[in-house]
Amino acid sequence: MTNKLIQGYEVVIGFETHAQLSTQSKIFSRASTTFGAEPNTQACAVDLALPGTLPVMNKGAVERAIQFGLAIGSTISERSIFARKNYFYPDLPKGYQISQFEIPVVVGGVIEFFLNEEKKSVRLVRAHLEEDAGKSLHEDFIGQTGIDLNRAGTPLLEIVTEPDMRSSEEAVAYAKELHKIVTWIGICDGNMQEGSFRCDANVSVRKPGAELGTRREIKNLNSFKNMQQAMDYEIRWQIEQIEDGYAIQQATVLFDPDTGETRSMRSKEDAADYRYFPDPDLPPLVIAPEWVERVRSEMTELPRVMAARFVADYGLPEYDATTLTQSKAMAAYFEEAAKTCGQAKLVSNWVMGELSRRLNAEERDFAQSAVSAQQLAALIARIADGTISNNAAKQVFDELWNESQKTGTTLSAHAVASPTIKATLAVDSIIESKGLKQMNDTSALEAIIDTVIAANPKNVEEYRAGNSKALNALVGQIMKGSQGKANPQQVGDLLRSKLG
Ligand code: ADP
Ligand code: MG
Repeated sequence: MTNKLIQGYEVVIGFETHAQLSTQSKIFSRASTTFGAEPNTQACAVDLALPGTLPVMNKGAVERAIQFGLAIGSTISERSIFARKNYFYPDLPKGYQISQFEIPVVVGGVIEFFLNEEKKSVRLVRAHLEEDAGKSLHEDFIGQTGIDLNRAGTPLLEIVTEPDMRSSEEAVAYAKELHKIVTWIGICDGNMQEGSFRCDANVSVRKPGAELGTRREIKNLNSFKNMQQAMDYEIRWQIEQIEDGYAIQQATVLFDPDTGETRSMRSKEDAADYRYFPDPDLPPLVIAPEWVERVRSEMTELPRVMAARFVADYGLPEYDATTLTQSKAMAAYFEEAAKTCGQAKLVSNWVMGELSRRLNAEERDFAQSAVSAQQLAALIARIADGTISNNAAKQVFDELWNESQKTGTTLSAHAVASPTIKATLAVDSIIESKGLKQMNDTSALEAIIDTVIAANPKNVEEYRAGNSKALNALVGQIMKGSQGKANPQQVGDLLRSKLG
């Protein structure tokens, strides 16, 4: 495996991701975490650390951290510590953020994914629990900044990787995989626009084989598109600096989506600047092995476990299995169709191909597909039994899609009584009315073949002289003669045996 070099430089990237945990209440208080409330209506005295208040750990947040650790094969610390990270910023009036420093709740683990069909794995250093700060509002005021403290105390899991990624594409693929995992197990709603999943990209470049270069950290990337653009700009910028003879200074930078550029926000603080110390108000977080086991027993089947099962049970290539487990809805769709028609590989091709294209074009999720899994299964059964060609099947698919659009039929409406039979009837009636049946009647087909052979002696001669391409020309003629209804493979077989 070779790493892509840019102008002779190797790119090194490590990610820190803040995943907002989907609890109803805050990490140390009972205030609500609901997004979009009137500013400053959801921060309570505990969130602001007013005198006389004490934080109390939200068990739901801990449980979500455990789920995450189990999902990616980490170690769950039996005893982890909350620490105060001291800094002052307008959106943090209490002057410190409660986080975890020396002993995080989740240690190690690996995220695996495919990049251009090549398997990649990124090691995690840790994932720790912490509280979010408030938010500065710049837009609504002129010459002033508003502060909304609703977000203060919202539970976050900060997930930190080793500097294992070697291109911006790999880093985006990692972020997508991580996003998939946290939403799949349901610990984070993954809403990037609302800030539920924010990534900081640490980027450096070096000559291959050299020591790690100095990194700059791009903060708060909140879409995969921004992520890609920001890292690409940053990589080019750093290489340019070095080529011009400047050294990279460690810094925290912001990405401006309007200009597509990154610019320095502040020189980077060191851990020492934060004067971390254990929070005297919170006891150590103790997680007994029984708690971990209970969480494990309640967890849903994980994407990579499901993917392995798809390989074992349906004989799918690993690439297919991984792609199909991009989302729960996609996996469920595949499995229902595959079970119904028993043609797993064909179903996989259709789900990853035609169906995904169609859903993407209409910005729909698998759960909102206009063609149900039962219908796709019925359609694929008709390809498999030779009734229709793959091409004709695409026409049937379009028709099914458009029909259900017209009548407003959705998946659930198809799911009455015997969905399998209904789906088969729907597919068969389209095949019938559009006249898409393949010609499987050998005698009629042979008549066409004989005519074509007689009319094209030159092609026949060429084929017999060893030019196998001449056969394609004949097959084409015969397909035309059958108005596309012949089965091309059958035509080829018959033709070859006739020509000897
Ligand atoms: P800090 O304490 O400043 O957050 P860490 O050592 O925790 O620094 O690293 C933060 C992130 O930066 C991690 O994801 C790590 O993999 C990444 N990182 C560290 N060094 C480099 C480097 N030279 N180039 C790119 N990423 C790096
Ligand atoms: Mg860090």
